Amino acid sequence: MLTIKEESRRESHMDIDEPEVHGNSDVDMIIEPLSNKEDDEERNFWKNNANAKPDKFEIEEGSMELLRVFYKRFFPYKTYCYWLNYSIDPMNKSFQNREFNFVKPGDDEIYMRYLSFDTIEEFKNEVLRVCPKKIDIGAVFTAKPKEKKSLKLSALKPVEKELIFDIDMNDYDEFRTCCSGATICEKCWQLITVAIKILDAALKGDFGFKHLLWVYSGRRGVHCWVCDERARKLNDDERKSIASYLGVIKGGAQQNKKVHLYKNSFHPSLTRAYKIIEEYFERVILEDQEVLKDEREWTKVLEFIPDEAVRRRLNDDWRENSSRHSIEKWDNLVEELESSVKLAKNPKKAESLRFCKIEIMMQYLYPRLDEAVSTKMIHLLKSPFCVHPSTGRVCVPIIPEECENFNPMIVPTISSLYNEINDYDRSHVKNDGGRSLHDYEKTSLSPYIKYFDKFVQNILKETLAKNKAVMQMSMEF
Ligand SMILES: [Zn+2]
Repeated sequence: MLTIKEESRRESHMDIDEPEVHGNSDVDMIIEPLSNKEDDEERNFWKNNANAKPDKFEIEEGSMELLRVFYKRFFPYKTYCYWLNYSIDPMNKSFQNREFNFVKPGDDEIYMRYLSFDTIEEFKNEVLRVCPKKIDIGAVFTAKPKEKKSLKLSALKPVEKELIFDIDMNDYDEFRTCCSGATICEKCWQLITVAIKILDAALKGDFGFKHLLWVYSGRRGVHCWVCDERARKLNDDERKSIASYLGVIKGGAQQNKKVHLYKNSFHPSLTRAYKIIEEYFERVILEDQEVLKDEREWTKVLEFIPDEAVRRRLNDDWRENSSRHSIEKWDNLVEELESSVKLAKNPKKAESLRFCKIEIMMQYLYPRLDEAVSTKMIHLLKSPFCVHPSTGRVCVPIIPEECENFNPMIVPTISSLYNEINDYDRSHVKNDGGRSLHDYEKTSLSPYIKYFDKFVQNILKETLAKNKAVMQMSMEF
């Protein structure tokens, strides 16, 4: 007989709402409800924590103590709960029927699924009691997930969830030359920056969404939470259409699909994306990543050219002049394409050669989305203000307008915050007059929480205005 752990591993690619696996919400079980690379790595980290090299990881021995301090002094409970409540009124169904998943501290992967909370205090007390090494946010259900056991299965249906997007550096590994695996640097982070810019513009411009919360995943990716009411109410089919509309280059499991553009199908959204890509391609792809530096790298680029003769000419030329910079080689490639367009007799061939340059540029810099994350309302996603277990970094919001200046390497960690707050407390004597500062205000976490506060305030203001309008309308009748 299989244990629950083995059983769930076997079925890890199935719908996560597997009743026999998650049947007892109030019993802690060893299950693995999520299946993605990052989660696997996190699991391994916690399992192997004892052997972690101090220079490699921020969190090691004593990490749980630091995490406890973080939850006690820094986690923005109030704003966070009002965010998920989507109203300044007392906690309502949006919050109370929301599923949370906590991963318990310790070596084993113990998931506490189908948690839900009635009040901010209840949520806070449970976080402080459990000190979860990870918090995931799920959907809003028709009833309280914590009452799952006493409800009929049909009574607990997901009804709302932010539309979410996941961009991970994993999906750029096929050509990333500066780093590999879990490591990132300022150069490759630019790949994520361009992805944020394109996706942010598309979600706002093509769909009219306004409330986009971009969150650093704590290591080498970002999540986007689209919080507009319209987005939260999308059903799975609608989510699927949006994801496939935006998924020109597939990330995740469908990573290798290549972009094919044709004159007739060059949508305005792609034109806008291309304009952004044009701005960054030379610096990010040719200078920083040097994707034409050596034969192994340039072969990948040449594969996109739909003409054997052009490929051969460029390959021969570059072999003879391999020290030529990627920027120069790119100029060679563009010239070759332009002259072969003129020479092409078949109009279809001419068209594919004409679009080849754009296709290559899009292939490198168009956001690679893990569509599976976006298409299911029930999908769990790591919460903002969580702490990434292998870096110790806080999953802080990113301001899309300033994402170019966002440096993941200097994001506060639970240990840096611990040091900052201690330094502050040591050097400041308590003064009696004036407002006492929140702990976060004494640290480098402050701008992120202030941004989050403002973000949530804007959502709440909109709800308030909407309720006021409804009230006014009902008074007029
Ligand atoms: Zn790098």
